[in-house]
Amino acid sequence: MELIIRPYTLALKLPFTIARGSRNEVPVVFVELHHEGIVGIGEASPLMRYGENVQTVMHFLARTRLEDFDNPFEIDRILGYVDGIAKGNNAAKAAVDIALHDWVGKKLGLPLHRHFGPGGAKTPYSSYTISIDTPDNIARMIDDASGFPILKVKLGLGNDEEVMNTVREYTMKIVRVDANEGWTSRELALERLQWLADLGVEFVEQPMPADRIADAVWLHERSPLPLIADESVKRLEDIASLPDAFDGINIKLMKCSGIREALRMIDAARALHMKVMLGCMIESSVGISAAAQLANRVDYADLDGALLISNDPYEGVTLPDGIPELPDRPGIGVKERQA
Ligand code: MG
Repeated sequence: MELIIRPYTLALKLPFTIARGSRNEVPVVFVELHHEGIVGIGEASPLMRYGENVQTVMHFLARTRLEDFDNPFEIDRILGYVDGIAKGNNAAKAAVDIALHDWVGKKLGLPLHRHFGPGGAKTPYSSYTISIDTPDNIARMIDDASGFPILKVKLGLGNDEEVMNTVREYTMKIVRVDANEGWTSRELALERLQWLADLGVEFVEQPMPADRIADAVWLHERSPLPLIADESVKRLEDIASLPDAFDGINIKLMKCSGIREALRMIDAARALHMKVMLGCMIESSVGISAAAQLANRVDYADLDGALLISNDPYEGVTLPDGIPELPDRPGIGVKERQA
């Protein structure tokens, strides 16, 4: 089988600002897995937080010798090989994982969510992300989110009151908060959590820096709101140490290396009685449609990444009224967008 690699730059509709920084565009890499006349599509949206960028993705994929394999159904063996090429590089690994799964679904003529079998959960509404911005732009984002019953509001940049006041000025929808590690003392984090609980926020994602494990446990013992780990959990191996510090985990294909690992993480989180959120980076419909195949297995979904861009080259899952709607096409269900 052959892997074709194609870098692409996603353009954001509005600048996207979180506690870590701001972006106007997001460089990604698409891959095509060609074998027996079927093409599986994958995507890597690199995580700068973990030292990834388009160059590291391209470098990793160039080292990935899929020519040595001739049966894409051997997903475990192939992805085991890919994982062993180098540590990290989880977005690049996810691109290969998604393309392989897409190929298998296409070969079987089945959407992946049907190939995987019933998930057992009711597909949750996806939230829509309100990034940190001026009151005028926040109002515009809330308008863009008109079809979504749940908002995920980014905080942690020092203007939390202004952002939350603006949000509440325009809407009384359910609000979840993501601090992206932005509250750097545990006392500040606890004070913010108490304030957000009074405002009726549903839960808070990653209040403190991921390396502050003892503080996270301290905070969890006192928090009036459920806490979800994001930056504190990348892959399966990270989950076992989390139940003392968090109530749930945010699984993202780009962070965890793909669908195969995500399925294992969902099982592990369930065994530890933790909630599961299915999240995303800023991605095209390729990455989002791949993740959405798992949406009937999770408690919370945050799959709006493709809605924030203006030049998505693909179409796949849609989010009418906030509920992920999967196209009845095999694999991850994407096709090239017609101009
Ligand atoms: Mg997050």
